[in-house]
Amino acid sequence: MRSKHRPQRTCVVCREKREKRQLTRLVMASGRLQADPSGKLDGRGAYLCENPACWNAAGRATLSRALRCELHEDDCALLRQMTPS
Ligand SMILES: [Zn+2]
Repeated sequence: MRSKHRPQRTCVVCREKREKRQLTRLVMASGRLQADPSGKLDGRGAYLCENPACWNAAGRATLSRALRCELHEDDCALLRQMTPS
């Protein structure tokens, strides 16, 4: 069987594997949390799926652990802004 080599990533909350383009990559770049739709930013990324429940559940603790750095209050506010509805 030929595989199609679609890159898969895991949502940090629900742990479901999805195609990369169905997830939003979050990166800690220059000390700030940023969404990285192009996937080109350097640094350790965390992926969240399209489910708003995952965004709501992805609090400071989850993302700090996934990104291996401390999230600030501003970053949490940004996360809330980016939450899909
Ligand atoms: Zn999820």
